[in-house]
Amino acid sequence: MTLGFGHSYLAIPGPSSIPECVLSAMHRAAPNIYEGELVDMVATILPDLRRVARTDHHVAIYICNGHGAWEAALTNTLSRGDRVLVLSNGRFSYNWGDMAARLGAQVDFLHFTATDGYAVLPERVENALRTAAQEGTPFRAVLCTHVDTGNSVRNDIVAIKAALDAANSEALLLVDCIACLACDDFHMDAWGVDVMITASQKGLMTPPGLGFVFFNPRAAERQRTADMVTPYWDWAGRVDPELFYLHFFGTAPTHHLFGLRAALTLLLETEGLEAALKRHAVLARAVWAALDAWGDAAGGVQPIIANSANRSHAVTAVYSPLNRGSAIRQWMVANTNVTLGIGLGMVERTNPDWHGHFRIAHMGHVNAHMTLGVLACLDAAFKALEIPHGAGAIEAAAKVCADACTDTKERAAASGCCD
Ligand SMILES: *Cc1c(COP(=O)(O)O)cnc(C)c1O
Repeated sequence: MTLGFGHSYLAIPGPSSIPECVLSAMHRAAPNIYEGELVDMVATILPDLRRVARTDHHVAIYICNGHGAWEAALTNTLSRGDRVLVLSNGRFSYNWGDMAARLGAQVDFLHFTATDGYAVLPERVENALRTAAQEGTPFRAVLCTHVDTGNSVRNDIVAIKAALDAANSEALLLVDCIACLACDDFHMDAWGVDVMITASQKGLMTPPGLGFVFFNPRAAERQRTADMVTPYWDWAGRVDPELFYLHFFGTAPTHHLFGLRAALTLLLETEGLEAALKRHAVLARAVWAALDAWGDAAGGVQPIIANSANRSHAVTAVYSPLNRGSAIRQWMVANTNVTLGIGLGMVERTNPDWHGHFRIAHMGHVNAHMTLGVLACLDAAFKALEIPHGAGAIEAAAKVCADACTDTKERAAASGCCD
């Protein structure tokens, strides 16, 4: 038999679960694209996107996925032959750097691997920047991810920016926040990020199809002389359009925009950004508590990122030392209607170890019953498949949730708040 009849749950790191209010906002007739509701609404979306990114600067919206946002960020800031430093600690930063090379930049990869715990080490960044300057070809840009979605490592962007400053580097800092914006805390302006990119289908809870590029005045200045700029990706016209259609360099992505409007209201007004970040932190800790307990048994599953200070709150990458990851995913779909993420960027698909990897997403429109449900279903999978696992995982995850809610209530009572 199967216990899967009922709601299906896609617990993969993008696309994430779409809220009902976003779906229903999109269920409508095509709007007027010249004037009226759509045009007025886009004017409200831009400041709200800035609030999520915590920037006072520009945001360009593109009809594209995250890969399109990558290309937009690169072509607006680089010239052919520019030397670019890629902080490569997972599939996504590597592929972004590879794209820069294909566009004609001179790319240096600085790799951070399992031996480093995957996190970018700022002192190595500083050294690389100093060496390039001494060689007479300083880096013009540094690319990194905030979170690599393949191994779920989160980089310390403040420390990376400090490394640029310590080396007196003129390089622009470009950060890919596609996996984690609105899930992991991020402050574009305070952290000194010049260009930040994200996409609609993860923390922003909207279907795939919108890419966003945020940029500050330094990046805008660089763009004026960048020779990779092309008409479609050119961000200048998009942020300062004479006519509405120039926001999108063509027809607006009408229904995505209605969906995004609903998602931003949910995030910023209904829940609040700080509360959403807290929710992600607690749900991530619930997942990690379960992993700690399961991992107590020899052969039990383990998080890829050993140091919890370097883990994302949006997704957790997991490894089964007995290479049972694929079996676990298949059992979960067949018996519980929960789809987990496949392993990405850890080993080649042809390597038998590929079957050891899977990922649990906890990004976007996800609450305690969804995450605790996934964990309890995983516990059932281990039992059904006779995969070794320590006891008390669900107990431990539930306790993380219980403690977090109690804390909040006590703090509300102490501040005299009542609801
Ligand atoms: C999902 C993701 C991408 C790619 O986004 P697509 O929409 O699939 O093109 C790039 N970078 C990171 C960090 C991501 O999580």
